[in-house]
Amino acid sequence: MTDSNNPIEVEFEATSEGRYHRSELITWWDQSALLSAKVLVVGAGALGNEIVKNLALVGVGNLTIVDMDIIEHTNLARCVFFRPEHEQKFKSEILAAEASRMNSDVKTAFYTCPIQELGDGFIGQFDLIVAGLDNREARVWLGAAAKRTGRVWIDGAIEGLMGKVQTFVPDGPCYACTMGDKDWEALTKRLSCKLLGVEEMEGGHTPTNATTSSIIAGVQAQEAIKYLVGKKDYFAIENKVWRMMGEQMATFFSIVDISEDCPFHYDFIETKASAQLPTTIGQIWKSAGQSDQAVLGFYDDFILIEGCKKCGGKSKIGYKDLMKRQGMCKSCDTELNIELFSRIQASDTVSQMAIIPEYWPLKTLVEFTHDGNATRYLLERGTK
Ligand SMILES: [Zn+2]
Ligand SMILES: [Zn+2]
Repeated sequence: MTDSNNPIEVEFEATSEGRYHRSELITWWDQSALLSAKVLVVGAGALGNEIVKNLALVGVGNLTIVDMDIIEHTNLARCVFFRPEHEQKFKSEILAAEASRMNSDVKTAFYTCPIQELGDGFIGQFDLIVAGLDNREARVWLGAAAKRTGRVWIDGAIEGLMGKVQTFVPDGPCYACTMGDKDWEALTKRLSCKLLGVEEMEGGHTPTNATTSSIIAGVQAQEAIKYLVGKKDYFAIENKVWRMMGEQMATFFSIVDISEDCPFHYDFIETKASAQLPTTIGQIWKSAGQSDQAVLGFYDDFILIEGCKKCGGKSKIGYKDLMKRQGMCKSCDTELNIELFSRIQASDTVSQMAIIPEYWPLKTLVEFTHDGNATRYLLERGTK
């Protein structure tokens, strides 16, 4: 609706009418900043569809979408981009294609795997991360990876007519800071179930609907826009949670504090260089040009699973998140011994072990410490 008595609007209407003209009437809008922005959207379900819809409409120029799930019939009632002919196709693939179709200014990419498989080095490539996830495990991982790489991320969650949005910044509380003992227990249990191949307890059957996801993702996208154009003073949900109780249409903020015991707070260390993932652990020192005295450290859980004592078989080493079903002997169903390695020396026997690329994320950050100095190094494996 326009007001013909308002001279400002009349003046603008007489001038150019580019695609983003109405957005650019907002005094602080910066379309070029949005067009050059690189945003990672994690989750392509009800929230992900709405997040991508908003970011693509306003012309965020580069969207990368990650989701491992396929489109099911019930998604059609909540996801604006999904049609009956898309059923059984990957959510991230369809969402990426449809976003570019809606606005050809938007370049998209997609990945059909859990976010943990892409690695913290992958997270570090983006200006901002916006998440619409359905499980705590992925949120904890993403929160830690964002902290480590100094990235801001905006989390959204929905249940019934309720929803919440929280923006995490590198020097503030992280997702895990808000977790209590019970949450940690549930998370540890879920991770070990995955290793043993036991069916996961948490499923995607949370009650949700299209209106709740649209409101929550709308708030996430709005905060994303402010961040991307550098409008920091309007950035409203930093270090707090914005909650909506849809039944009463009540909204409120709650403050989140940094937890002193949280294990995911890292000092920022510059990433020195990168290299292709070598074939043995020991070769990582050479690839990184490090002396044998340097200690190699891993950020996420890095484990050794021993071969079966009854059936023989080789031990395997890799990232716990990616070693699904490897904790059990395939022949005799015995639970295998697991050892956690957060730091390795070049002289340790595990340094002789072969690297199995499928147990390594696409882009992983590792840390070398030598004489009290820490340096960070990026290891990249070839795409599958
Ligand atoms: Zn924390
Ligand atoms: Zn066995």
